Amino acid sequence: MIQTVKGPINQKILGITMCHEHLAMDLSRIRGDDDSDFSCEDTIIEEIRAMMKYGVKSLVEVTTNDMGRDVKQLFRISEACGLNIVCSTGFYLEQYHPKSIAESEPKQICDIFLHDIQLGIAGTEIKAGIIGEVASSMNEITKGEEIVLKGAAKASVVTAVAVTTHCHFGTMAIEQARLLVNEGMNPDKIILGHLDLADDRDYYAEVLKTGVNIGFDTIGKTSYLSDEKRADNLMWLIDKGYEDKIILSQDISRKSYFSCKGTHSGYMSVMKDFVPLLLNRGINQEILNKLLQNNPARILNF
Ligand SMILES: [Zn+2]
Repeated sequence: MIQTVKGPINQKILGITMCHEHLAMDLSRIRGDDDSDFSCEDTIIEEIRAMMKYGVKSLVEVTTNDMGRDVKQLFRISEACGLNIVCSTGFYLEQYHPKSIAESEPKQICDIFLHDIQLGIAGTEIKAGIIGEVASSMNEITKGEEIVLKGAAKASVVTAVAVTTHCHFGTMAIEQARLLVNEGMNPDKIILGHLDLADDRDYYAEVLKTGVNIGFDTIGKTSYLSDEKRADNLMWLIDKGYEDKIILSQDISRKSYFSCKGTHSGYMSVMKDFVPLLLNRGINQEILNKLLQNNPARILNF
């Protein structure tokens, strides 16, 4: 099954899935501006309805416990839009962590994640269907981040729930993979996030040799990297036979990316802007289906 905010569903009905998104969060506590405060629920519902016109049926919402996660808002969005939402349990970059994490053992962090997966989040019956986005900082896994990553791996070993991560600008992917696999994790249950931003083909090949999946999940964020470059790199990976190990998403993390603001395509970027770039480069439908549907279904199923 795949565990959504509305309960378990069969993987066959998952359909096109965005694997790394935020629909209910508030990072203003750390970022000091309100661009990452997603309490504007009605606007988000409009943005999601526009995305669904492109055939998207499901979304993995990777907001962690310390990013202002709000599973009740996710439940309401799921109801309003008819979107399958898989929600998360996790802790993000160290600067977001509650102070208690630095003094915790990985086992204690694992127990927090198990509670959210098996019993429900924050007093609700809404259960997490993935662990993430657990994170590492730029070119470094801090002490607190290592505790969280180990706790995530332990909870995945118990439940077979996938772990999805934040690699800051694509860095530390090999180190994350090693750490998670050393704790006993099945590498096919790991998604290393934001690897598109690394923009380095040799690095991709080295990371994928560990057996993990990688996210091309900041599509549309063209101030970091052009989507043409992302598409070229993705086609190179497909040519090397890695089409079973890649997922796509946008990681909309600021309201300024919303399509209603007029400068980005928001949650539509993959389907509206990026898929045509892949089709222009000759991707076949079977491989496209793997990136958009089959790979997410396989990884999320437990
Ligand atoms: Zn991230």
